[in-house]
Amino acid sequence: MSAQVLVRVVTDPDRRHDGDADDADDADDELAALVARFLRVPASQVVVGRRCPHCAGTDHGRPVDLHTDETLDPNANGLDLLATRVLEGFDLGATASHCVSLGQQPLDVQSATAERVAEAGISVVVLPHTNLFLQGRGQWPMPRGLTAITTLRAAGVNVAAGADNLQDPFNPVGRACPFETAGLMVMAAHDLPVQAWKSVSSDAATVMRRHAEIAPGAPADLIAVRASTVREAIAFGPSDRIVWRNGQRTSITRTTSLA
Ligand SMILES: [Zn+2]
Repeated sequence: MSAQVLVRVVTDPDRRHDGDADDADDADDELAALVARFLRVPASQVVVGRRCPHCAGTDHGRPVDLHTDETLDPNANGLDLLATRVLEGFDLGATASHCVSLGQQPLDVQSATAERVAEAGISVVVLPHTNLFLQGRGQWPMPRGLTAITTLRAAGVNVAAGADNLQDPFNPVGRACPFETAGLMVMAAHDLPVQAWKSVSSDAATVMRRHAEIAPGAPADLIAVRASTVREAIAFGPSDRIVWRNGQRTSITRTTSLA
């Protein structure tokens, strides 16, 4: 088989394509060897392309989702750099995910970044499973690994929530369930239930440039559960569900009680 595997490495937006070429080549060789071992193909079939996020987005004519600043180090500023690059001219759309370090910065620094992020039209996605599990381990006092949600929202940034690591080394639990994520937003981010649900539903739809509403003619991508309030739905995360995708009922889950 002679097919090639292309690995697209998205680099720090501030570094663009410069930096130490030898270091980059060594890193590319290491990555190619790793991918080859994983895929069980010869390393010669793995091609590594190194691009900054908005250049990679331009290559493919697609928006970018930069997973950045997954650290409690307040000096990490990938989000601000992304906003700057987008404002310089990238109109395909950009999202930034994690952005933990922003939550560790002084309020005035957070606010200045949040203003630029809002101006750039960048949505921020909170991923509480991953960053509550990864950040703050063994530290005392123990910081909370979430971005500056309140500051971002106050600046007008669309802040959604999701789960990008499920039952993997970065998060050994997780059920790919929006109720679970909304519950974490209530407990770890101090969202009220309705706001928490909005972050995993309509705000998440906004990230994907979709519009979430229940109305005639709107896309029928729905999940139905029994609950008398949003809070109750988040609290129970009912197992009994009906799911519609694009107007088609795709699953019905019923639990039975022996009692
Ligand atoms: Zn991620």
